[in-house]
Amino acid sequence: MDQQRRFAFNLKRLILLLALVSTVITLLSSYLAIFQVEKKLLIESSLRASQSYATRLSLTADLFFNAAQKQVAYSADLLGDEFDNIDALTEEADRLHVQSKRFSSVLVVDKTGVVRAASRNSADMVGIKLVSDANTAALSTHNPVLSSPFRTEQGNHIIVLSAPVRNARGGYMGYLATEIDLSKSSIVDSLINARNYRKDAYIYVIDHEGDVLYRAASGWIESAPEGRLNKAQLGDKTQGFVRMKNLQGEESLVGFSTMDVAGWTVLVLHPAQADVILLYHVMIQVLLYTLPIVILVFIGIWLLTRYISRPLRQLASRADTMDSKDVSKEIEQVNAWYYESSKLKTVMLQGIRLLHQRIEKLSTEAHTDPMTGLLNRRGFYELVDKQLTESARIAVITLDIDHFKKINDTFGHDVGDVVITQLARLILDSSREGDLLCRMGGEEFLLLLPGASVTQAIQLAERLRRQVESQHFDGAGNVTISLGVTHFYPERDNIDGALKTADKALYQAKNEGRNRVKNL
Ligand code: GH3
Ligand code: MG
Ligand code: MG
Repeated sequence: MDQQRRFAFNLKRLILLLALVSTVITLLSSYLAIFQVEKKLLIESSLRASQSYATRLSLTADLFFNAAQKQVAYSADLLGDEFDNIDALTEEADRLHVQSKRFSSVLVVDKTGVVRAASRNSADMVGIKLVSDANTAALSTHNPVLSSPFRTEQGNHIIVLSAPVRNARGGYMGYLATEIDLSKSSIVDSLINARNYRKDAYIYVIDHEGDVLYRAASGWIESAPEGRLNKAQLGDKTQGFVRMKNLQGEESLVGFSTMDVAGWTVLVLHPAQADVILLYHVMIQVLLYTLPIVILVFIGIWLLTRYISRPLRQLASRADTMDSKDVSKEIEQVNAWYYESSKLKTVMLQGIRLLHQRIEKLSTEAHTDPMTGLLNRRGFYELVDKQLTESARIAVITLDIDHFKKINDTFGHDVGDVVITQLARLILDSSREGDLLCRMGGEEFLLLLPGASVTQAIQLAERLRRQVESQHFDGAGNVTISLGVTHFYPERDNIDGALKTADKALYQAKNEGRNRVKNL
């Protein structure tokens, strides 16, 4: 039993192990699934947030450029029929410069590229022939032009916005050019302020080619000073989100939106890794929230395991003591509440019943003389100890067939056996319940009569003697017996002494001529 208790794998532990392993696997896989789903959602939502930020910024820029273009186009329209009137041109250029704080200088340029008039702050430009890219673009296309940012000789970082000037008949006269100083412009403020969006985000503005015009860290910069982003990665769409590498080569999540007027694209980037770190925090929260439930589940599993394994454990421990008397009662008490345990319980009870029957039978056989059905010597001694101690007084009769050797010799051993059997029958018939009747060996019998007086014992002995004397034994005819009678008190006397006395009495009966009863 101890060995079994110490045995590492019992049913309870196995069920517990199985349940725990499957619970842990289930939990882990659901955490993993939550992790993946959350990761997707988180990344997607931060991409969308970046995209909408980029859209907001590009709309702000668009509004700025739109308003600026309208102002320039409006002034350009006024100049068409006044192109020869230098004063009027200067007046309008100055008005535009003073009224709108957007423009750092305003120039009226004829169709050869020579500055015809200028706002007063740029009066020294009048008469100069322009050679910039923006000038070439304006003259060759006759269309409004928005240049890329560039630095002037004075070191100002500017862009040029121009609108064509036509006369009433639609003839091209030249163009009205305005310069926007980016370092003083409100558009930069709006982009710089955008850095409040999230701390780890970068804002880029790139032109059609992918050259970086602006980075949130360093403001407006000349074309491609830090490198060029692969614009093809953004696809054909004017706004959306993608994963791409930033200028430092880090994997980044990017929301983008292209401006209508300038055709530039605003990118809002942040490192992909940042969202994953955020996700770990989310996962720790999930773990903390589920921990009490997980603990409850584990306790539940433990209790259930105990409940399931209990009947089998109890039955198994009873199996060690199947031969004990009370084991049936103990097994009856086991609460075998499910099919297998109840079946096992039934089978064990049946087995125990059969086992006990068999033990009983073997024990009876071991204690009984097969020929007469009376107790044998062993049975006698076992029962004497158990049964007779309660009795105050016990009478003893020993009995032996006279000249039995002769019967055997004359009629044969079989006939001798029949005589022994018939005599045993007689003894049995005249006995009372509680008497111990024993064949001590050969043709000798011993009768123990608890509670009987000496007189009663002598009377019984005498009756037996007469019965035998008068009975006809099959094959042997008349037979006689001799009997010795005595009595003793179990509390006081030794049974062996009493048996010896009874033997002595029998011996005397034999000596005095046999077929008699002798009491000592
Ligand atoms: P006594 O009157 O002095 O008792 O003479 P006896 O011939 O009966 O002498 P004893 O009691 O010593 O003899 C017992 C004989 O009983 C000896 C043995 O051969 C015989 N015997 C013992 N057991 C059996 C048995 O089971 N069956 C038969 N048929 N004979 C047995
Ligand atoms: Mg004899
Ligand atoms: Mg004898």
